[in-house]
Amino acid sequence: MIRLADAFARPIEYLRVSVTDKCNLRCVYCMPEGGLPWLQRDEILSYEEIARVVEAAAWVGVRAIRITGGEPLLRRHLERLVGLISRISGIDDIALSTNALLLEEQVDTLVAAGLRRVNVSLDTLNPERFASIARRPGLERVLRGIDAAIAAGLSPIKINCVVMRGRNDDELLAFAEFSRRRPVAVRFIETMPVLEYAQAQREEYVCADELLERLQAVGELAPVEGPHGNGPARYFAFPNAVGTIGVITPMSHDYCNRCNRVRLTADGRLRLCLFGDHHVDLRGPLRAGASRDELCAILEGSMLIKPERHHLRLGEPASRMRALSEIGG
Ligand code: SAM
Ligand code: SF4
Repeated sequence: MIRLADAFARPIEYLRVSVTDKCNLRCVYCMPEGGLPWLQRDEILSYEEIARVVEAAAWVGVRAIRITGGEPLLRRHLERLVGLISRISGIDDIALSTNALLLEEQVDTLVAAGLRRVNVSLDTLNPERFASIARRPGLERVLRGIDAAIAAGLSPIKINCVVMRGRNDDELLAFAEFSRRRPVAVRFIETMPVLEYAQAQREEYVCADELLERLQAVGELAPVEGPHGNGPARYFAFPNAVGTIGVITPMSHDYCNRCNRVRLTADGRLRLCLFGDHHVDLRGPLRAGASRDELCAILEGSMLIKPERHHLRLGEPASRMRALSEIGG
């Protein structure tokens, strides 16, 4: 069996699958208020087409799938895709990234179909702030979604919080408290310069070292193992806490040397790096009837253009920067 590895000998075992570019929120750091030029329905891969890509990816060593978007729970009957993926031999980890607005009503069906874990985006615990950061209301529904995920037995549950100076960086302790009382990992993420947010990112960026220092000032934060996952977070915990705190540092300490992932966009492009424009079309071959072996050969060939690292700098959008939501962030 071939094992996918790129030109820098990094094994690729993790595929993020975007099922839609659309979203029911407009987070300031991610999407313009008026939305994006949305994809047409026939441009978006069907669940069967996605499953064929996942099957080929599993054949060359991919083990873990994360379903993302846009907001993946907006795509109808997502449990059908989860079911298709969970039957693919070799895939032993199916996770979901969501803003959780629609999680409460869908979580049981998703778990029954094979979903095992979830990451929820949540940047504030204050309802008015939520409406200003996400440009839509909904904090109560998100919190109910998180509780429903805990009740449904999903584990681990990770909460992703993008930290922005002056918008939510005074809530670090409130989030730490949240993780002290619930079985969740709260992960603070450094903002990245995306789209129109690039200019504001320069002023709002908080480096993870500062953030950890501020948390350490109020309690003893010890490094811990952290929950199972495929990501680059470093984890810590306060004494006697039920949950943990993590930091994800795409800007201050990039983790490109450990990169194990590629992304499938909603319109069927395999993106080799979060930033930059390195991609390979899979939709054309899929719709022309490519066999699994032919798809595997395309996946292998694509490894040659996976870049060694991203070149993001504070406040400077990389050339051809896209919204993370568009490319399966
Ligand atoms: N809608 C889902 C959600 O919000 O979890 C899935 C897609 S969203 C693009 C995936 C993740 O990307 C979220 O955790 C979000 O916070 C993060 N993200 C988007 N834009 C970002 C930026 N400019 N800097 C840092 N993280 C960003
Ligand atoms: Fe939507 Fe997620 Fe982007 Fe927020 S971060 S606008 S929830 S896709």
